[in-house]
Amino acid sequence: MKSVIVLGGGGFIGGHLAKRLKDEGCHVRIADIKNHEFWNHEEICHEFIKCDLTDPKAVELVINEECDELYQLAADMGGAGYIFTGENDANVMHNSCLINLNVAKECVEKRVKKVFYSSSACMYPEYNQLDPDNPNCTESSAYPANPDSEYGWEKLFSERIFLAFSRNYKLNVRIARFHNIFGPQGTWTGGKEKAPAAMIRKVCEASEGDSIEVWGDGKQTRSFLHVAECVEAVLRLMSSNFEGPVNIGSEEMVTINELANIAINISGKSISIKNIEGEEFKKKYGFPCPTGVRGRNSHNQLFKEKVGWSVSQTLEQGMIDTFPWINKQVSNL
Ligand code: NAD
Repeated sequence: MKSVIVLGGGGFIGGHLAKRLKDEGCHVRIADIKNHEFWNHEEICHEFIKCDLTDPKAVELVINEECDELYQLAADMGGAGYIFTGENDANVMHNSCLINLNVAKECVEKRVKKVFYSSSACMYPEYNQLDPDNPNCTESSAYPANPDSEYGWEKLFSERIFLAFSRNYKLNVRIARFHNIFGPQGTWTGGKEKAPAAMIRKVCEASEGDSIEVWGDGKQTRSFLHVAECVEAVLRLMSSNFEGPVNIGSEEMVTINELANIAINISGKSISIKNIEGEEFKKKYGFPCPTGVRGRNSHNQLFKEKVGWSVSQTLEQGMIDTFPWINKQVSNL
Protein backbone atom coordinates (compact mmCIF):
# COMPACT_ATOMS: atom_id res chain seq x y z
CA MET A 1 0.00 0.00 0.00
CA LYS A 2 1.46 3.35 -1.06
CA SER A 3 1.89 5.68 1.91
CA VAL A 4 1.11 9.34 1.18
CA ILE A 5 0.99 12.54 3.22
CA VAL A 6 -1.17 15.50 2.22
CA LEU A 7 -0.20 18.74 3.96
CA GLY A 8 -3.11 21.18 3.83
CA GLY A 9 -5.52 18.26 3.37
CA GLY A 10 -8.03 20.07 5.58
CA GLY A 11 -8.38 22.60 2.75
CA PHE A 12 -10.09 22.66 -0.61
CA ILE A 13 -7.67 21.10 -3.15
CA GLY A 14 -5.86 19.05 -0.49
CA GLY A 15 -9.17 17.52 0.64
CA HIS A 16 -10.09 16.48 -2.93
CA LEU A 17 -6.58 15.13 -3.53
CA ALA A 18 -6.56 13.15 -0.26
CA LYS A 19 -9.99 11.67 -1.04
CA ARG A 20 -8.89 10.59 -4.52
CA LEU A 21 -5.69 8.98 -3.13
CA LYS A 22 -7.66 7.18 -0.42
CA ASP A 23 -10.24 5.97 -2.96
CA GLU A 24 -7.36 4.62 -5.06
CA GLY A 25 -6.12 2.53 -2.12
CA CYS A 26 -3.28 4.63 -0.71
CA HIS A 27 -2.70 5.00 3.03
CA VAL A 28 -3.38 8.72 3.53
CA ARG A 29 -2.14 10.91 6.37
CA ILE A 30 -3.33 14.51 6.43
CA ALA A 31 -1.85 17.37 8.42
CA ASP A 32 -3.64 20.70 8.72
CA ILE A 33 -4.13 23.46 11.27
CA LYS A 34 -7.90 23.04 10.94
CA ASN A 35 -10.42 20.26 10.37
CA HIS A 36 -11.94 19.88 6.92
CA GLU A 37 -15.07 22.02 6.91
CA PHE A 38 -17.15 19.88 4.58
CA TRP A 39 -15.91 16.26 4.87
CA ASN A 40 -15.60 13.86 7.82
CA HIS A 41 -11.99 12.77 8.16
CA GLU A 42 -12.84 9.09 7.54
CA GLU A 43 -14.03 10.04 4.04
CA ILE A 44 -10.69 11.51 2.98
CA CYS A 45 -7.90 9.91 5.06
CA HIS A 46 -6.77 7.27 7.53
CA GLU A 47 -4.98 9.67 9.88
CA PHE A 48 -5.64 13.36 10.49
CA ILE A 49 -2.98 15.26 12.43
CA LYS A 50 -4.12 18.69 13.54
CA CYS A 51 -1.03 20.85 13.88
CA ASP A 52 0.70 24.07 12.91
CA LEU A 53 3.23 23.32 10.16
CA THR A 54 5.11 26.58 10.78
CA ASP A 55 6.46 24.71 13.84
CA PRO A 56 9.43 22.50 12.83
CA LYS A 57 8.64 20.07 15.69
CA ALA A 58 5.17 19.47 14.24
CA VAL A 59 6.62 18.86 10.78
CA GLU A 60 9.11 16.40 12.29
CA LEU A 61 6.21 14.44 13.80
CA VAL A 62 4.05 14.51 10.68
CA ILE A 63 6.62 13.36 8.10
CA ASN A 64 7.67 9.76 8.65
CA GLU A 65 10.25 7.53 7.01
CA GLU A 66 7.57 5.28 5.45
CA CYS A 67 6.26 8.14 3.28
CA ASP A 68 6.36 7.35 -0.47
CA GLU A 69 4.82 10.60 -1.68
CA LEU A 70 4.22 13.91 0.05
CA TYR A 71 1.89 16.58 -1.33
CA GLN A 72 2.59 20.06 0.08
CA LEU A 73 -0.54 22.23 -0.31
CA ALA A 74 -0.59 23.97 3.09
CA ALA A 75 -0.43 27.76 2.73
CA ASP A 76 -1.81 30.90 4.28
CA MET A 77 -3.96 31.98 1.37
CA GLY A 78 -7.34 33.15 0.11
CA GLY A 79 -9.05 34.92 -2.77
CA ALA A 80 -8.54 38.51 -3.94
CA GLY A 81 -10.18 39.90 -0.78
CA TYR A 82 -7.44 38.24 1.29
CA ILE A 83 -4.33 38.36 -0.92
CA PHE A 84 -4.61 41.78 -2.59
CA THR A 85 -5.71 44.13 0.22
CA GLY A 86 -2.18 44.27 1.71
CA GLU A 87 -3.50 43.59 5.20
CA ASN A 88 -2.33 39.97 5.33
CA ASP A 89 1.04 40.34 3.57
CA ALA A 90 3.29 39.70 6.57
CA ASN A 91 1.36 36.64 7.73
CA VAL A 92 1.09 35.20 4.22
CA MET A 93 4.86 35.48 3.66
CA HIS A 94 5.95 34.44 7.15
CA ASN A 95 3.64 31.46 7.56
CA SER A 96 3.93 29.95 4.09
CA CYS A 97 7.73 30.42 3.89
CA LEU A 98 8.18 28.72 7.27
CA ILE A 99 5.99 25.79 6.22
CA ASN A 100 7.95 25.25 3.00
CA LEU A 101 11.37 25.64 4.66
CA ASN A 102 10.39 23.09 7.34
CA VAL A 103 8.86 20.65 4.87
CA ALA A 104 11.71 20.62 2.32
CA LYS A 105 14.31 19.98 5.04
CA GLU A 106 12.27 17.28 6.77
CA CYS A 107 11.58 15.47 3.48
CA VAL A 108 15.35 15.17 2.99
CA GLU A 109 15.85 13.97 6.61
CA LYS A 110 13.17 11.29 6.25
CA ARG A 111 14.15 10.38 2.68
CA VAL A 112 10.66 10.93 1.30
CA LYS A 113 10.65 9.43 -2.20
CA LYS A 114 8.74 12.15 -4.06
CA VAL A 115 7.41 15.59 -3.12
CA PHE A 116 4.76 17.71 -4.84
CA TYR A 117 4.67 21.47 -4.26
CA SER A 118 1.70 23.65 -5.24
CA SER A 119 2.86 27.02 -6.51
CA SER A 120 0.55 29.59 -8.09
CA ALA A 121 0.11 31.58 -11.30
CA CYS A 122 0.32 34.62 -9.00
CA MET A 123 4.12 34.31 -9.27
CA TYR A 124 4.09 35.48 -12.92
CA PRO A 125 5.32 39.06 -13.53
CA GLU A 126 2.72 41.79 -13.61
CA TYR A 127 4.26 43.40 -16.75
CA ASN A 128 3.16 40.39 -18.86
CA GLN A 129 -0.43 40.59 -17.59
CA LEU A 130 -1.43 44.18 -18.33
CA ASP A 131 -3.36 43.44 -21.54
CA PRO A 132 -6.54 41.52 -20.65
CA ASP A 133 -6.74 40.01 -24.14
CA ASN A 134 -3.16 38.84 -24.39
CA PRO A 135 -1.52 37.80 -21.10
CA ASN A 136 1.70 35.78 -21.19
CA CYS A 137 1.94 32.98 -18.62
CA THR A 138 4.37 30.62 -20.31
CA GLU A 139 6.58 28.95 -17.71
CA SER A 140 9.70 30.58 -19.18
CA SER A 141 8.25 34.09 -18.66
CA ALA A 142 8.71 33.94 -14.85
CA TYR A 143 11.91 36.03 -14.85
CA PRO A 144 12.79 38.87 -14.46
CA ALA A 145 10.38 38.41 -11.56
CA ASN A 146 7.77 40.96 -10.61
CA PRO A 147 4.63 39.37 -9.12
CA ASP A 148 1.91 41.85 -8.15
CA SER A 149 1.41 40.44 -4.62
CA GLU A 150 3.52 39.24 -1.69
CA TYR A 151 1.66 35.93 -2.04
CA GLY A 152 3.16 35.62 -5.55
CA TRP A 153 6.65 36.49 -4.30
CA GLU A 154 6.36 33.87 -1.56
CA LYS A 155 5.30 31.23 -4.11
CA LEU A 156 8.26 32.05 -6.33
CA PHE A 157 10.65 31.89 -3.36
CA SER A 158 9.18 28.55 -2.25
CA GLU A 159 9.52 27.09 -5.76
CA ARG A 160 13.19 27.99 -5.46
CA ILE A 161 13.44 26.33 -2.02
CA PHE A 162 12.23 23.02 -3.46
CA LEU A 163 14.40 23.37 -6.59
CA ALA A 164 17.47 24.12 -4.41
CA PHE A 165 16.79 21.02 -2.28
CA SER A 166 16.44 19.04 -5.49
CA ARG A 167 19.84 20.27 -6.75
CA ASN A 168 21.78 20.01 -3.50
CA TYR A 169 20.09 17.06 -1.72
CA LYS A 170 18.57 15.13 -4.64
CA LEU A 171 15.05 15.69 -3.30
CA ASN A 172 12.74 14.30 -6.00
CA VAL A 173 10.29 17.19 -6.53
CA ARG A 174 7.36 18.04 -8.79
CA ILE A 175 6.19 21.66 -8.92
CA ALA A 176 2.96 22.97 -10.44
CA ARG A 177 1.65 26.51 -10.80
CA PHE A 178 -2.12 26.34 -10.24
CA HIS A 179 -4.38 28.81 -12.07
CA ASN A 180 -7.67 29.53 -10.21
CA ILE A 181 -9.01 26.16 -9.10
CA PHE A 182 -12.70 25.91 -8.19
CA GLY A 183 -15.38 23.34 -7.39
CA PRO A 184 -17.54 21.92 -4.61
CA GLN A 185 -16.28 21.62 -1.01
CA GLY A 186 -14.32 24.87 -1.42
CA THR A 187 -14.48 28.14 0.51
CA TRP A 188 -17.60 29.92 -0.75
CA THR A 189 -18.06 32.80 1.71
CA GLY A 190 -16.25 34.79 4.41
CA GLY A 191 -13.70 36.72 2.29
CA LYS A 192 -11.29 33.89 1.37
CA GLU A 193 -13.46 32.55 -1.47
CA LYS A 194 -12.36 32.76 -5.12
CA ALA A 195 -14.30 34.41 -7.97
CA PRO A 196 -16.33 31.37 -9.25
CA ALA A 197 -17.60 30.55 -5.74
CA ALA A 198 -18.31 34.22 -5.01
CA MET A 199 -20.32 34.61 -8.24
CA ILE A 200 -22.38 31.49 -7.60
CA ARG A 201 -23.04 32.50 -3.97
CA LYS A 202 -24.16 36.00 -4.97
CA VAL A 203 -26.47 34.59 -7.64
CA CYS A 204 -27.94 32.04 -5.21
CA GLU A 205 -28.56 34.76 -2.62
CA ALA A 206 -30.14 37.15 -5.17
CA SER A 207 -33.84 37.28 -5.97
CA GLU A 208 -35.40 37.60 -9.39
CA GLY A 209 -34.73 41.13 -10.76
CA ASP A 210 -31.84 41.89 -8.32
CA SER A 211 -28.34 42.92 -9.35
CA ILE A 212 -25.13 41.28 -8.09
CA GLU A 213 -21.94 43.16 -7.32
CA VAL A 214 -18.85 42.30 -9.39
CA TRP A 215 -15.51 43.83 -8.31
CA GLY A 216 -13.71 46.00 -10.89
CA ASP A 217 -14.90 46.96 -14.37
CA GLY A 218 -15.60 43.29 -15.14
CA LYS A 219 -13.30 43.31 -18.16
CA GLN A 220 -10.33 41.73 -16.37
CA THR A 221 -9.73 38.20 -17.69
CA ARG A 222 -8.94 34.86 -16.00
CA SER A 223 -9.25 31.13 -16.60
CA PHE A 224 -10.65 28.64 -14.10
CA LEU A 225 -10.06 24.91 -13.67
CA HIS A 226 -12.38 22.44 -11.95
CA VAL A 227 -10.76 20.76 -8.96
CA ALA A 228 -11.28 17.20 -10.31
CA GLU A 229 -9.15 18.02 -13.35
CA CYS A 230 -6.59 19.75 -11.14
CA VAL A 231 -6.23 16.58 -9.03
CA GLU A 232 -5.93 14.43 -12.16
CA ALA A 233 -3.19 16.74 -13.49
CA VAL A 234 -1.30 16.64 -10.17
CA LEU A 235 -1.33 12.83 -10.11
CA ARG A 236 -0.19 12.64 -13.74
CA LEU A 237 2.63 15.11 -13.07
CA MET A 238 3.69 13.02 -10.05
CA SER A 239 3.86 9.87 -12.22
CA SER A 240 5.86 11.66 -14.90
CA ASN A 241 9.60 12.31 -14.94
CA PHE A 242 9.14 16.07 -15.27
CA GLU A 243 10.13 18.21 -12.28
CA GLY A 244 8.49 21.45 -13.46
CA PRO A 245 7.57 24.14 -12.60
CA VAL A 246 4.63 23.68 -14.96
CA ASN A 247 1.20 25.31 -15.26
CA ILE A 248 -1.93 23.44 -14.19
CA GLY A 249 -4.92 25.42 -15.37
CA SER A 250 -7.48 25.95 -18.08
CA GLU A 251 -6.84 27.86 -21.32
CA GLU A 252 -10.49 28.97 -21.58
CA MET A 253 -10.07 32.66 -20.79
CA VAL A 254 -13.17 34.70 -19.85
CA THR A 255 -13.83 38.18 -18.46
CA ILE A 256 -15.08 38.32 -14.88
CA ASN A 257 -18.43 39.63 -16.14
CA GLU A 258 -18.65 36.59 -18.46
CA LEU A 259 -17.99 34.36 -15.44
CA ALA A 260 -20.79 36.13 -13.55
CA ASN A 261 -23.11 35.65 -16.55
CA ILE A 262 -22.43 31.90 -16.59
CA ALA A 263 -23.55 31.71 -12.94
CA ILE A 264 -26.61 33.88 -13.71
CA ASN A 265 -27.61 31.69 -16.69
CA ILE A 266 -27.31 28.49 -14.65
CA SER A 267 -29.66 29.97 -12.02
CA GLY A 268 -32.29 30.76 -14.65
CA LYS A 269 -33.07 33.99 -12.74
CA SER A 270 -33.13 37.40 -14.36
CA ILE A 271 -30.24 39.15 -12.59
CA SER A 272 -28.09 42.09 -13.71
CA ILE A 273 -24.44 42.88 -12.96
CA LYS A 274 -23.32 45.96 -11.04
CA ASN A 275 -19.58 46.58 -11.42
CA ILE A 276 -18.07 48.39 -8.44
CA GLU A 277 -14.60 50.00 -8.49
CA GLY A 278 -12.57 53.13 -7.67
CA GLU A 279 -13.81 55.55 -5.00
CA GLU A 280 -17.18 53.87 -4.75
CA PHE A 281 -15.50 50.58 -3.81
CA LYS A 282 -13.07 52.20 -1.35
CA LYS A 283 -15.87 54.08 0.37
CA LYS A 284 -17.87 50.89 0.81
CA TYR A 285 -15.09 48.46 1.82
CA GLY A 286 -12.34 50.73 3.22
CA PHE A 287 -9.60 49.41 0.88
CA PRO A 288 -8.85 49.78 -2.86
CA CYS A 289 -10.63 47.38 -5.20
CA PRO A 290 -8.48 44.18 -5.11
CA THR A 291 -8.80 42.97 -8.69
CA GLY A 292 -5.17 41.84 -9.29
CA VAL A 293 -3.62 41.76 -12.77
CA ARG A 294 -5.71 42.81 -15.83
CA GLY A 295 -5.37 39.49 -17.62
CA ARG A 296 -4.27 35.94 -16.85
CA ASN A 297 -4.64 32.67 -18.71
CA SER A 298 -2.98 29.31 -18.33
CA HIS A 299 -0.59 28.17 -21.04
CA ASN A 300 -0.61 24.38 -21.23
CA GLN A 301 1.82 23.45 -23.99
CA LEU A 302 4.64 22.44 -21.64
CA PHE A 303 2.33 20.21 -19.57
CA LYS A 304 1.05 18.54 -22.75
CA GLU A 305 4.58 18.04 -24.03
CA LYS A 306 6.12 16.70 -20.82
CA VAL A 307 3.20 14.88 -19.21
CA GLY A 308 1.20 13.94 -22.31
CA TRP A 309 -2.25 14.89 -21.07
CA SER A 310 -4.61 17.89 -21.31
CA VAL A 311 -7.54 19.19 -19.32
CA SER A 312 -10.80 19.11 -21.28
CA GLN A 313 -13.77 20.23 -19.17
CA THR A 314 -15.40 23.54 -20.12
CA LEU A 315 -15.85 26.30 -17.56
CA GLU A 316 -19.61 26.02 -17.96
CA GLN A 317 -19.54 22.27 -17.14
CA GLY A 318 -17.47 22.98 -14.02
CA MET A 319 -19.83 25.76 -12.93
CA ILE A 320 -22.88 23.51 -13.49
CA ASP A 321 -21.22 20.90 -11.25
CA THR A 322 -20.40 23.46 -8.51
CA PHE A 323 -23.67 25.43 -8.51
CA PRO A 324 -25.92 22.97 -6.62
CA TRP A 325 -23.36 22.46 -3.85
CA ILE A 326 -23.04 26.22 -3.14
CA ASN A 327 -26.79 26.67 -3.52
CA LYS A 328 -27.25 24.05 -0.78
CA GLN A 329 -24.78 25.86 1.53
CA VAL A 330 -26.65 29.14 0.96
CA SER A 331 -30.03 27.48 1.67
CA ASN A 332 -28.67 25.96 4.91
CA LEU A 333 -27.68 29.38 6.32
P1 NAD B 1 -6.99 26.20 1.20
O1 NAD B 1 -6.82 27.47 1.97
O2 NAD B 1 -8.35 25.61 1.15
O3 NAD B 1 -5.97 25.10 1.71
C1 NAD B 1 -4.77 25.41 2.36
C2 NAD B 1 -4.75 24.66 3.68
O4 NAD B 1 -3.53 24.96 4.36
C3 NAD B 1 -5.90 25.08 4.63
O5 NAD B 1 -6.69 23.97 4.98
C4 NAD B 1 -5.17 25.66 5.82
O6 NAD B 1 -5.80 25.41 7.06
C5 NAD B 1 -3.82 24.96 5.72
N1 NAD B 1 -2.82 25.70 6.49
C6 NAD B 1 -2.57 27.05 6.44
N2 NAD B 1 -1.63 27.37 7.34
C7 NAD B 1 -1.29 26.21 7.96
C8 NAD B 1 -0.38 25.91 9.01
N3 NAD B 1 0.37 26.86 9.57
N4 NAD B 1 -0.27 24.63 9.43
C9 NAD B 1 -1.05 23.65 8.86
N5 NAD B 1 -1.92 23.89 7.88
C10 NAD B 1 -2.04 25.15 7.43
O7 NAD B 1 -6.45 26.50 -0.26
P2 NAD B 1 -6.53 25.64 -1.60
O8 NAD B 1 -7.31 26.45 -2.55
O9 NAD B 1 -6.90 24.26 -1.31
O10 NAD B 1 -4.99 25.72 -2.08
C11 NAD B 1 -4.07 24.66 -1.86
C12 NAD B 1 -2.70 25.09 -2.36
O11 NAD B 1 -2.77 25.43 -3.74
C13 NAD B 1 -2.14 26.32 -1.65
O12 NAD B 1 -0.76 26.18 -1.50
C14 NAD B 1 -2.44 27.45 -2.61
O13 NAD B 1 -1.54 28.52 -2.45
C15 NAD B 1 -2.28 26.74 -3.95
N6 NAD B 1 -3.05 27.42 -5.01
C16 NAD B 1 -4.39 27.37 -5.01
C17 NAD B 1 -5.10 28.01 -6.02
C18 NAD B 1 -6.60 27.99 -6.08
O14 NAD B 1 -7.17 28.52 -7.04
N7 NAD B 1 -7.31 27.39 -5.13
C19 NAD B 1 -4.41 28.69 -7.04
C20 NAD B 1 -3.03 28.72 -7.00
C21 NAD B 1 -2.34 28.06 -5.98
